[in-house]
Amino acid sequence: MKIIRITLIGVGVLLVGVISLVAVLLVLHEELSPFDTFFAGSEPAGEHTLSVRYMGNTNLLVTDGVTSLMVDGWFTRPSTLSLLIGEIEPDMDAISDGLARGDVGELAAVIPVHSHFDHAMDAPEVARRTGALLVGSESTANIGRGWGLSEDQIWTVVSGEPLQFGDFTVTLIKSRHFEFPNPAMRAAALNDPVISEPLVPPVAAMDYKMGGAYSIHIEHPLGSILVQGSAGYVTGALDGLRADVVFLGVGGLAAQTEAYQRDYWEQIVRVVHPTRVFPVHWDSLTDPLADEPVMPSLLWSRVLDFQARAGIAYAIDHANEDGLDAALLPMWQNVVLFRETN
Ligand SMILES: [Zn+2]
Repeated sequence: MKIIRITLIGVGVLLVGVISLVAVLLVLHEELSPFDTFFAGSEPAGEHTLSVRYMGNTNLLVTDGVTSLMVDGWFTRPSTLSLLIGEIEPDMDAISDGLARGDVGELAAVIPVHSHFDHAMDAPEVARRTGALLVGSESTANIGRGWGLSEDQIWTVVSGEPLQFGDFTVTLIKSRHFEFPNPAMRAAALNDPVISEPLVPPVAAMDYKMGGAYSIHIEHPLGSILVQGSAGYVTGALDGLRADVVFLGVGGLAAQTEAYQRDYWEQIVRVVHPTRVFPVHWDSLTDPLADEPVMPSLLWSRVLDFQARAGIAYAIDHANEDGLDAALLPMWQNVVLFRETN
């Protein structure tokens, strides 16, 4: 009896210890301050400019003042607990706040980079409120259908087929998702990758299956853009393309091998010959959006290997080596990418 009691006390102490450690790792966040000097300056959009407004993760509003497009449209921030063992659904208040803070008006299109929750879950609601066409894979289309978005607001893409929105020509090119080094996470996030029926939330986070990852190429008379949300690549997929600006997903990249990191830079950045690189997909997926970007908790960054700081440093260091400009985007503010000169 005595041995059983001592064992139970031991298990209890261990459990309390583990829970306390997880709580501390969730409360402590990585520091963003080493990168304070890397933020791009903001200025009003004005006429004859092409500008971007960043709203966390890979959520980007791209506008030329006449036509506006949004990548992802993701404002909900589920808790870590609900991601691991609960169910998630779009947070209608967070979407209202985000659209208001980002001064998001009418949109021509909302385009998730793939169908995981942290890109596509709010997109149908954003499309519904802004009149946008929801553009993406069949899986993204099924997220739209599950939300009740009408078919005439859903467009299922064919890789490489250009779409016209005002002066923007948008082409989604089939790419690859980031390959999680951890086999269990890789299996959970990437096996069985298709949402084959309308998805009606609340559902488990992993029910937002990947659905096919895309590089988004945006061409405009003032300049061209490449958005790579997830840090994956297909060798040769972007050969022959040009982009003046690359929004480069760096989440988890620092946990990859050096060879992978080198190939990622070569296949996504060097190949399109940009002059500017903005690292994206490095801030917290579980903390509410705030005035400034929120770094991930240590649980995400160190234990789950998201490695936000190392990801940002990767982009800055590689850009420096290639003589490119690298900067972080301020939250909610307008950054002018291109301006008509004459
Ligand atoms: Zn993903």
